[in-house]
Amino acid sequence: MACRSVFDLPAIRSEFEKAGISIRFIAPVWKYVLQNPNIKIDFDEVPSLPTGAYPLLRSKFRSSTSTLDSVVESDDNITSKLLIRLQDGAFVEAVVMRYDSRMGRYAGKPRPGGPRSTLCISSQVGCKMGCKFCATGSMGFKRNLSSGEIVEQLVHASHISHIRNIVFMGMGEPLNNYAALVEAVRIMTGFPFQLSPKRITISTVGIIHAVNKLQDDLPNVNLAVSLHAPVQDIRCQIMPAARAFPLVKLMDALLIYQRNSKQKIFIEYIMLDGVNDEEQHAHQLGKLLQTLEVVVNLIPFNPIGISNHFRTSNEHNVKRFQSILRGYYGIRTTIRKQMGQDISSACETWYTPKNEFSLQ
Ligand code: SF4
Repeated sequence: MACRSVFDLPAIRSEFEKAGISIRFIAPVWKYVLQNPNIKIDFDEVPSLPTGAYPLLRSKFRSSTSTLDSVVESDDNITSKLLIRLQDGAFVEAVVMRYDSRMGRYAGKPRPGGPRSTLCISSQVGCKMGCKFCATGSMGFKRNLSSGEIVEQLVHASHISHIRNIVFMGMGEPLNNYAALVEAVRIMTGFPFQLSPKRITISTVGIIHAVNKLQDDLPNVNLAVSLHAPVQDIRCQIMPAARAFPLVKLMDALLIYQRNSKQKIFIEYIMLDGVNDEEQHAHQLGKLLQTLEVVVNLIPFNPIGISNHFRTSNEHNVKRFQSILRGYYGIRTTIRKQMGQDISSACETWYTPKNEFSLQ
């Protein structure tokens, strides 16, 4: 039988409750695991647990169900790709990007107190959304990750860098694995990780029914919407799953989300030459977003791992697109800088409103 992760919250909570052990003893177990990298953890060494917790942990749980298979460093000296092997032999990727927010620019060199990093996390093995510009989309869907497997990516990354921001922009559509996502984020924002929800960004193609619940379940996290087209027919052409989520209804859902959350929404827009990068598309997008407070991130297309006919837009078109959104519609628009291309991490960065780097 597959072992369960101590970070699999429903499982450990249920086992503790069944054994009459207070669930307040779960957090000290997590703290011990987080503080003890590179050793096979013997739960007997976790201090101050009730006697009955030790045999229960030993027999039913593992400190980690995944292993860090490899870490590939990019030549940019900023980006590291973590290849993580799950217990069923599947692999997921997580990407760490180190930066120094005080300097306001990337800094590969050590920062006093260590670099502050952003971690891009996977939520599924593969993805069923089938976006035509995405390598993961071409794999198809294999399975959801458990909340434990999601949090273990943070644990692995925390052993190599000080993680300050999380973006759910790795493999998978996070809102298609909603329950595990919510559990994982709640763990990440609680003891001992204690990340601010404001430093967690969840990216979605726009699963409307899940967007409608997100504000109640995870208040204060950032929402990033992979829009990628200003009209429904282009969206469907490049993101087949968009057929189930009509643009008009998605925009209504985002309006309600913003009214309730009072937060900016990030709009991701991949720049595809001749597909969605023309002047008329910029005006259509500007009009579509006029009623929302958004930051638009224009993303150069990264062809790694994808065999199709898309090409990234040329620099002139990207700049023209940006200046239309800014000039005509007053929309804050950034052009994302690609990082880690040499290690196929497909990582890109943009400025958040806090003038810090995030990553996809
Ligand atoms: Fe899935 Fe995101 Fe890739 Fe689309 S872009 S196929 S939602 S992983």
